[in-house]
Amino acid sequence: MFMLTKKELIAELRKNLQEDYAIELEDATSEEIFFSLGSAIKGISNQKWQKTWKNYLKEQQKQVYYFSIEFLPGKLLKSNLLNLGLYELVKETLADLTIDLEEIVEQEKDMALGNGGLGRLASCFMDAIASKGLPGNGNGIRYNYGLFKQQFVDGYQVELPDDWLKKGNVWEIRRDSKAVDVHYGGNVFFEKKEDGHLKVQYENQRILRAVPYDTGMIGYQNNIVNTMRLWGVEIPHSEEGKYRSIEERRVLEDITAVLYPDDSNEKGRCIRLIQEYFFVSAGIQSILRYYQRLGLSPSLLSEKIAIHINDTHPALCIPEFMRILLDEWELSWEQAWDITSKVMSYTNHTILAEALEKWPISLMKNVVPRMFQIIEEIDRRYVLSMSAIHSDELIQRTRIVQGSTIHMAHLAIIGSHSTNGVAKLHSDLLKSVVLHDFYVIFPDRFNNKTNGIAQRRWLQLANEPLSKVLDDTIGHTWRQDSSNLKLLMNYQKDTSVLAKLAAAKQTKKIELADFIEANTGIIVNPEAIFDVQIKRLHAYKRQLLNLLHILKQYFDLKDHPEKRIHPRVYIFGAKAAPSYHYAKSIIKVINEVASLINHDATIHDQIKIIFLPNYNVSLAEKIIPAADVSEQISLASKEASGTSNMKLMLNGAITLATLDGANIEIRDAVGDENIVIFGLSEAQVYAYYENKNYSSIEIYEKNPMIQRVLNAFINGEIPNIEQEGREIFDSLLTYNDEYFLLRDFDSYCAAQSRIEQEYQNSTDWQRRCLINIANAGVFSADETVQQYADDIWHIEPLFAHESK
Ligand SMILES: *Cc1c(COP(=O)(O)O)cnc(C)c1O
Repeated sequence: MFMLTKKELIAELRKNLQEDYAIELEDATSEEIFFSLGSAIKGISNQKWQKTWKNYLKEQQKQVYYFSIEFLPGKLLKSNLLNLGLYELVKETLADLTIDLEEIVEQEKDMALGNGGLGRLASCFMDAIASKGLPGNGNGIRYNYGLFKQQFVDGYQVELPDDWLKKGNVWEIRRDSKAVDVHYGGNVFFEKKEDGHLKVQYENQRILRAVPYDTGMIGYQNNIVNTMRLWGVEIPHSEEGKYRSIEERRVLEDITAVLYPDDSNEKGRCIRLIQEYFFVSAGIQSILRYYQRLGLSPSLLSEKIAIHINDTHPALCIPEFMRILLDEWELSWEQAWDITSKVMSYTNHTILAEALEKWPISLMKNVVPRMFQIIEEIDRRYVLSMSAIHSDELIQRTRIVQGSTIHMAHLAIIGSHSTNGVAKLHSDLLKSVVLHDFYVIFPDRFNNKTNGIAQRRWLQLANEPLSKVLDDTIGHTWRQDSSNLKLLMNYQKDTSVLAKLAAAKQTKKIELADFIEANTGIIVNPEAIFDVQIKRLHAYKRQLLNLLHILKQYFDLKDHPEKRIHPRVYIFGAKAAPSYHYAKSIIKVINEVASLINHDATIHDQIKIIFLPNYNVSLAEKIIPAADVSEQISLASKEASGTSNMKLMLNGAITLATLDGANIEIRDAVGDENIVIFGLSEAQVYAYYENKNYSSIEIYEKNPMIQRVLNAFINGEIPNIEQEGREIFDSLLTYNDEYFLLRDFDSYCAAQSRIEQEYQNSTDWQRRCLINIANAGVFSADETVQQYADDIWHIEPLFAHESK
């Protein structure tokens, strides 16, 4: 372990403040201290980083490259301190100087280069891969602007730019020496060489300079530092002369300007496709350049390199890898194809048909003509090779190129050796429904890897009071190996442990209540049940179902003024894609219901609704430790896995859930008594699709409470939602309620009543929280990446052979 004394740390801090800001520690602002501390910490991790990659090179270690168009690391200071084993030292040193570490931490901008679950998963994996000592690197885009900042104005979502780089990013290193050129556009043709072979030629191509910015991904107290490489775009010097106007330059520089703020529909078309090719091509070029340094034969590529395609956005990895092997290394198609498919693996993240990525041929041809040629050839050979084995219908349905459309998921499956889903149910549905045709053709390629979370961030860092109770009760080993959380099961009946858990929860609830008051002006009662739904706003996630129940509860109280319930605080956090009109209407309506109920004195503060703006990783870290109830209420079959469900369980919230995604595995881990399940099963949902016999109007007509609640959207009872209320009302009745909210409504209300009752028995409630915490270890990303490493990537830690 690296040793640093308080004195050395202070000296380093003073030196950095002097050099960077010409200021004394005593006069420095929190922000100046943050940047100076950050560079001191980076200095320490850089030594380990350099050693790590030199060892990888020397040992010719097989490495995985995780390609993801999104990474959502949040803030890195605390996590880096923890992983370097410097957390306590730094905290105490600053405290000696009467500086609060938390205040310094707040100065860091969230690195929000992702929309939600998919990007956060990639970052949890980066942490876990390093912490497992596995050789693995991230490859993505350094967006100049992260996901928009959300504000509410008159209850409406307003999007503001997230200029996160304005004051610099202490963690990154720009590596000009590793920059590569990415070519796109223009025309491609073939010329016969003297030996009769065809050589690919280009004309009128455009060139982009891809400059890597590397960030060290620090393993948990193991001296390993891996690399997350994010590419930024620049205009190459050789091309400077071609861009005369600022507008022309702007168009190019815009390629890595913004993250597309939409995690289900692909819009923005042309720039988005260039983005995809840009980070794929830069990444693949730099991997193959590294491989060439090893001086090994191309046939050994798959023994040294694994490339993972996180959802289909990086699926161009397949044709780009082929392009270099064919055009530059001059391998035969057969050999190149064999190597490529052994190197590549793919994770599917969705079963929503509208979220499966497709591109028009015309666009692909224009933007990346050589990619299109290679895709066409892959497709042609696929059809040819399958025609002797499978029916023509099956082959046509699974082709990559169909009509004028390119199906990226088909490319990813056909061009890789592994396709995995992200929870058991999801992987089963891929095999039986969504990708069934491919499962018939390639049964061995399909597998499941249930998502996981970085438990260090979501428990050790986010929830110190709970961590302390765990240390006092079961010792420290859970910090290294989260399966040891199981030890807590021995204390189910220990009322003093249960009381300590309750007290830890209460501490975090009071902190959150203070935060809520400071940020919204609303006072909430920390004795209330904190009922939390935090995730992107999407119709299938059914925030609206949550709201319908809140309205029912509200009307019950209005109708029965003598009635008393356990006070409840409903906490929402959610961003809607700026172009997702319906999701924005739901935000508006939640905010209007909130202001109606929060200000209604007749219900005696028994219900509060808090919609915290700008949900992101840092806000999640504040909300999750304070949650009593975790709302995971998507329509069964629609949520691939979910990961906020795991974070909340780990922090001792009781899950209120449909049998969807990883909720099923949470139930299996904790047992039926320790989770509250409601709603249609996935099989019942599919039966409705099959029989086409769902009728929301029928349910509405038979159910007076549903009428009461839905009518409130159009009769003025909820103020200021004339348009949005009508839109939502119509979506549920005129358009037959796509996500079956009305069908699950009664069952959901009954489940909410159970929560209400069960919370009254506080010892029993605490015992169930304990069981949730104790069984959350299986959802550690450490476990998940180990499975990827063993089953898909075939990578090992450094020196694994020697220690065996
Ligand atoms: C964990 C996380 C998510 C994913 O939440 P789900 O409920 O699984 O969709 C999204 N955004 C942030 C900031 C997260 O931390």
